[in-house]
Amino acid sequence: MSGQPKDLRGTGLESADFKKGRVFTEYYVPKLQYAWDTGEAIGRYLAELKNGRLIARRCNRCKRNLIPPRMFCERCFRTTDDWVFVQDTGKVNTFSLCYVSWDVQRLKVPEIPAVIEIDGAFPGAGIMHKLGNVKPKDVRVGMRVRAVWKPAAERTGSITDIKYFEPMKDSKRKQAAGKAKRK
Ligand SMILES: [Zn+2]
Repeated sequence: MSGQPKDLRGTGLESADFKKGRVFTEYYVPKLQYAWDTGEAIGRYLAELKNGRLIARRCNRCKRNLIPPRMFCERCFRTTDDWVFVQDTGKVNTFSLCYVSWDVQRLKVPEIPAVIEIDGAFPGAGIMHKLGNVKPKDVRVGMRVRAVWKPAAERTGSITDIKYFEPMKDSKRKQAAGKAKRK
């Protein structure tokens, strides 16, 4: 903390106060080993990612394919019915140009987290991932994209088995044609 706030009660502390033992402190290395049960829906979802496929759960009443898959339809208040494979293509629903890394370092080249509406899932349903192989200024909502997968031997059953989503070439062409028309 730099300086003492004048109008706040209490005692301001600086890093040096802790290092020099002016304040009671306790140091330890926590043992943070834990197990996480993925559950039925996400377990299958992750296993299929390792196979290079996207899988959803279908609710036969509202006829929606849910991705990421869930065993329960929150609209119909009932158990979902079937597993269905969906495409590894889709369109950008929303995105962000992120110039700050996860550990708060400034980035010159932004990360582009995006929600991808997956082809075959119900409209508006999407998964969070990131975009790659695209210039930040070229990213658009509605842009058609496809998954770029890691090689099979490197996949671990994780969402990062997809490296990123990249624009589909025909999408680029259509965009260029669209721009030409608007001019
Ligand atoms: Zn439903």
